Amino acid sequence: MAHETMQPRVVLFASPGMGHLIPMSELARLLASPRHNCAITIITKALTVSSSEKDKGSFLSSLPSSVTVDFLPTNHDHSINSFKVNDVFLSALNSLPDLREALRSLQSLSRVVALITDFLSVDAVAVAREFGVPFFVFFPTNLMALSFLLNVTRIDHETTTEFPDMPVIQLPGWCVAIHGTDLGESFQDRKSEAYRMSLHMAKQISKADGILSNSFCELEPALANILKEDDPSHLPVYTIGPLVRSISDQQVNMSGCLEWLDHQPSGSVLFVSFGSEGTLSSEQLVELAWGLELSRQHFLWVIRSRNGSSDTTILPEGFIERNKEVGLVVQSWVQQIEILGHISTGGFLTHCGWNSVMESIMSGVPMITWPLYAEQRINAKLLVNGIGVAFRPEVQDGGVVHRDTIAAAVKELMQGEGGRDARKKVLELKTAGGKALSEVGSSFKDFAKWKSSIVM
Ligand code: UDP
Ligand code: UDP
Repeated sequence: MAHETMQPRVVLFASPGMGHLIPMSELARLLASPRHNCAITIITKALTVSSSEKDKGSFLSSLPSSVTVDFLPTNHDHSINSFKVNDVFLSALNSLPDLREALRSLQSLSRVVALITDFLSVDAVAVAREFGVPFFVFFPTNLMALSFLLNVTRIDHETTTEFPDMPVIQLPGWCVAIHGTDLGESFQDRKSEAYRMSLHMAKQISKADGILSNSFCELEPALANILKEDDPSHLPVYTIGPLVRSISDQQVNMSGCLEWLDHQPSGSVLFVSFGSEGTLSSEQLVELAWGLELSRQHFLWVIRSRNGSSDTTILPEGFIERNKEVGLVVQSWVQQIEILGHISTGGFLTHCGWNSVMESIMSGVPMITWPLYAEQRINAKLLVNGIGVAFRPEVQDGGVVHRDTIAAAVKELMQGEGGRDARKKVLELKTAGGKALSEVGSSFKDFAKWKSSIVM
């Protein structure tokens, strides 16, 4: 077959971790849609880590037939047994020879028109350059976190002050200032290996041909204006969100969640979940249980078990029995998008992983923020102080959120004036997000602009 007549193929290289794989899969679905008609290959490492990995990964089998998934060998790579930034980064680095081989064989069969990686796999830029393939970074979170990364090298040159010692950090276009302690773990100690790696990633990102962000203009208008200025000295930034899971995964056993929700009053249930990896300390878990009970609201709580042991054994004695009329506790991997979209769900206590945030907004569900790691504290500030779609219960001395504080926040979200305002705001954003994706919308247009920047 002549090279030009071969079907264009976009290769997506995804780091391990559901927070990367889920939005990458949605990007694949978008590219494979009839309008774009690309062949897609997702290259990633075998899913490991959790006991519920089978449920977690099963959504990959529901992708369109023009999307193929290549699992790279894990070899002797033990690093993907953890999702810490250093480990995921090293795991991606170790995979580069395999990525090179995979690209070589794909190029012999099809015309590879772009390589897109997430930000933890940006060292793949070298491989893209070897093959003369345009290279893009998919940034699965917001423009605020992106603009920090785009500025961090400059800040690093300008000052030796540790980030937590800076009074506030306020960059152009930010709707809210943050404190250094709101940054991810990697930025808490400038002497750390994690910090060195993050700086390295920031430098690699600047070599890309462009960045695709899972945000949308109407969510972060001022920043979008700045980052998307048509200026040849800027790295092109395309906002293509909200990319959320569009298709539910029939294979996931929901432990009766949906049936239970069917029996609850409309908008009455607080959904409590901390993403694919988040866990709480025993002390915090107990406080949260008491907080939920004292709030006297309906709740559906997904408790992720730590190291295979069951966290439900730590719950206060009699908790499940006392709350059986209003509360359901499950330990399995659930279909979050189905729960958020259920008529009975009225609030979401979330760890603020960006996929969860986008899913909540697109389901019109206001939030209580409970950030745990990575850029989640930035996300929480944006949601609470910048956009006004969430509340944040204060952390007391000792780093624990007290039961009374939790109960008050839950009551306010589900029944109070503040909750009503947040719900109104989140519904406005849901509409704006839907519009952004429509044929006249900002994200639709940006995606078309990105596509026209690569030779199909
Ligand atoms: N998720 C799910 N079921 C669960 C836990 C998580 O479907 O039991 C999905 C959730 O809907 C989201 C993703 O996993 O799409 C988690 O991504 P997020 O960015 O929110 O957090 P992370 O897990 O990366 O910290
Ligand atoms: N991460 C995770 N579980 C953890 C810690 C981190 O899944 O317990 C993932 C997180 O989703 C993110 C990445 O690891 O994609 C980076 O986390 P980290 O906080 O180290 O990043 P930072 O913001 O400090 O660069």
